[in-house]
This record gives sequence, C-alpha cells and structure tokens, in this order.
Amino acid sequence: MRIRILGSGAGGGFPQWNCNCANCRAVRAGESGFLPRTQSSLAASANGHDWVLLNASPDLRRQIEQNPELAPSGNDPVRASPIKAVVVTNGDVDHVTGLLTLREAQPFTVYGSARVLEVLAQNRIFNVLSPSCVERRELPLDTPIALKGAGADLGLSVEAFPVLGKIALWLEDALKANFGSVEGDTLGLKITESESGKAFFYIPGCAGVDAALASRLRGAALVFFDGTLWRENEMIEQGLLGKTGTRMGHINMSGPDGSIAAFAPLGVARKIYVHINNSNPALNAFSKERREAEAAGWAVGEDAMEVLL
Ligand SMILES: [Zn+2]
Repeated sequence: MRIRILGSGAGGGFPQWNCNCANCRAVRAGESGFLPRTQSSLAASANGHDWVLLNASPDLRRQIEQNPELAPSGNDPVRASPIKAVVVTNGDVDHVTGLLTLREAQPFTVYGSARVLEVLAQNRIFNVLSPSCVERRELPLDTPIALKGAGADLGLSVEAFPVLGKIALWLEDALKANFGSVEGDTLGLKITESESGKAFFYIPGCAGVDAALASRLRGAALVFFDGTLWRENEMIEQGLLGKTGTRMGHINMSGPDGSIAAFAPLGVARKIYVHINNSNPALNAFSKERREAEAAGWAVGEDAMEVLL
C-alpha cells in the first residue's frame, strides 16, 4: 500500500495568507529548516493506479499537480482521474472544500459520517458534484467497509471511529454543550489493504487520547496524527488567536497531557504528525521542539512524503 501526504499543514496552510508570525515570516523568506505546507490531506492506493483521498483540502488542485499519480496520464481517456473516492473526517473547511475542485462531471464516491453528509446536503454549492455521477455514501461507525468508486474496487477498506473533538468552527452553536458537537463530528480512520491486511490510522483532528483510542492504536504499524499545536496556549502567547488547543478541539504535542506522552506506552511502530499549524515551533527543523518530538519516535510530516506499508 502506498500512502502519500498531500498536505501536512493545518487549516490556513504554511505560510497562512494573512499571518506574519515568526514561523510564517521564516518560511516566506525561504529560511533553512522551514518547508511550506499545504492544507490537510492524505492519499492511499493499493494498486498504484486507483487512489482514495482522505480529506479534500482547499489546496487540492495544487496537490494534484505536486503528485502526478493523481492526474490523468498515458492512455487514460480524454477525461479521467485516478481519484476514485474521497473519505471526509469532519466538516472543517480545510477538509471539505477541496470537493469543489473535483467538479467537472467526474465520477467518484464521497464517504462521510451521517453528520458530514448532512452538512454537504445543506450547503447547495456542493451540488456541483452532481448526484448523477458523484455518489455519497454514509460511513458507519466501527464497521469496516470496502472502498469503491467510479466502477473500481480500490482493494482497501475503511473503518471510521469517533474520536474526542469538536464540531467544525463554522457549525458551532454557542448555546449548546461543546458547541453542539455530537459523536461522528470528528472521525479517525483505519485504512486496511484487503489483500495483505496491512493497516494504518489517520487521525488529523483529535482533542485527546482516551482509553478507547489508546487500545485501538496499541501496537499499530503506522499512525498519522493531529500535530496542530506544540503547546495548549501557543496561539494566545503568539498573539494569533485567543483560543487554546482544547477550545479548538486539538490535543497539543508536548507536556503530560500531550500526544507525545499519550503515545509513549502504545508501541506504535511509526508515528507521523500531520495537520500541523503554522504556530507550531516543531515546524522548524532545527528547533528543540523538533528534536524532542523526533527523540520520542515521531516524524513531522511533509508534503509529498510517501510511506509504503
Ligand atoms: Zn503564522
């Protein structure tokens, strides 16, 4: 199975269009140790021809150009795409708006939780993906299903499971508990190659590693995980946004309540951070935070990084 990080950044990407923080200034200036990052998405393929996207970011058009496997080629018909399916983990702008890039009457299948499909149905702009060629299929929770699209069986299954988190920012209801979030608003995914049984996890948004998630991940071969923040308060400290990680539904990397500590006893063979916010000091390849993450066995994901499983 081939797994390609299309975008390793969080919402806004790196640099973010309106951000002049130290990290964004450094990456704009081309300083050594800083790589630009597009917004959150992965692609996976069992046969190298047919691909599933895990989330569709606003940078999808650029990501397809950066990853030629995702563009038509050779003897393909005049209109064709290797992208046969898209699995969406929540309704975040950085995870659904790339669907609009996939208009132009190209058949594929969109998989999402009942909640996410409801969001797509309520926003009529997504009707540019005509139901006559783009099928929308509900992802059941905790039940693996075969991934199919445009007449292809991808040789992969997806199992969606709820993780701690929060409803998308633009859907928040301030009057309700946890802003109106319910189970299924934030999903983790387990993708399994049917033939080999090899599997990886993709969890780009997660507010905490509870006992259920820890037991699910224990001994996993490969996990791509929420790397939004280094510290709970870093966006406030840097004057970027008056919100903590907890408020945004994202666990931080460091500290006793962070993901580095939570994963330490789980025996995960390969751990890769994705969905990394531009405020995170671990983006700097020469920072002490990067050294600390790497010393704990983590890799900081980069765009176009490929992992074979
Ligand atoms: Zn910034």
